[in-house]
Amino acid sequence: MEPAATPPGPARAGVDGAAAGSAGPTEADWAAAVAAVRRLPADGRVLLICHVNPDGDALGSMLGFGLGLRRLGVDRLQATFPGPPEVPEPFRGLPGLELLVPAAAADPEPDLVICFDAASESRLGELAGRLTGTGIALVLDHHASNTGFGDVNLVDPAAAATSVVAEELLARLGVSLDAGIAECLYVALSTDTGSFRFDATTVAVHEMAARLLATGIRPGDISRRIFDSRPFGAVRLFGEVLGRARLEPAAAAGHGLVWTYATLDDLARHDQRPYVLEALIDPVRCTAEADVSCVVKQTGPAEWAVSLRSKGAVDVSRVAVALGGGGHRLAAGFTGRGTVDEVVDRIRTELAVPATRGDIDKQR
Ligand code: AMP
Ligand code: MN
Ligand code: MN
Repeated sequence: MEPAATPPGPARAGVDGAAAGSAGPTEADWAAAVAAVRRLPADGRVLLICHVNPDGDALGSMLGFGLGLRRLGVDRLQATFPGPPEVPEPFRGLPGLELLVPAAAADPEPDLVICFDAASESRLGELAGRLTGTGIALVLDHHASNTGFGDVNLVDPAAAATSVVAEELLARLGVSLDAGIAECLYVALSTDTGSFRFDATTVAVHEMAARLLATGIRPGDISRRIFDSRPFGAVRLFGEVLGRARLEPAAAAGHGLVWTYATLDDLARHDQRPYVLEALIDPVRCTAEADVSCVVKQTGPAEWAVSLRSKGAVDVSRVAVALGGGGHRLAAGFTGRGTVDEVVDRIRTELAVPATRGDIDKQR
């Protein structure tokens, strides 16, 4: 075990705008999480899980934390996520990928389960049952809607990414950053802040980025891999899908909605994997005339993964929660069923419902 390091200042957004009840973990929560790791027996088995269809924060926090546990001498360690065991191409260079096992091969009875970036058990698919076994379940997350489904919950709605919580817990465990851990946490932080562009990009976020960069990692290389590389087929697919985008200026009580969709047939025609569609929301949400943007991505015969974004006037997590999903005020999603038109109709209807103050407070 390494000497204890001074915990970094937490990269939280501060109290401004944080409603009562959205405070981060208490000292008792941190102490319980540290104890859960430190009390592992010498041959203790740890399973790390992140949410289905993992993004940069889910994979980056999980693998970065896993590399940190390795440094503490935990070697019976697996990382996994529900669904097909396919890592999206942009994340195939992440350090720590060797920890990954398919969900079907994950330890059925670990001593400690640690869950990353999932607001509820429903985001863990077939792995949800692992949290109720005999071991301890520790949850690291930053969704305000987190249901507190762990035995110990480190949930900080003011954190820009789950990696902020992961970095603090590593520091409290006395693990200092190395380049491998830092690269994972940097990928997580830069993806969830939209490359340090969103409002969550506080002074504390930049201070955390500085600690990560101080390990010698190369932000240019990492960003090119994560944000600025895609197969030519995906470029052509984006052209087609953006060409069918619709702008509805009167939607969302006049704040405007822009939306498009992509089918499994679109993917097949361009010989592309579903992950390429994750980046599609970015060119769509650039539309100046709409506060709300939406991409509807087919995942099955009558099933769609829906991404919603807002520039600030509309709380899209309220819409996503009303339609069975979740997320943050400015970035949320849900699983839609039926035809594209039916899914978009439901979104239009929800966007037309005026938010009450109580609703807003509940979502924060
Ligand atoms: P995405 O549009 O997939 O990047 O997701 C944006 C946000 O919405 C993330 O914070 C997710 O946690 C949340 N989200 C997306 N899809 C779902 C879903 N089906 N259920 C609950 N939350 C979701
Ligand atoms: Mn995520
Ligand atoms: Mn996240």
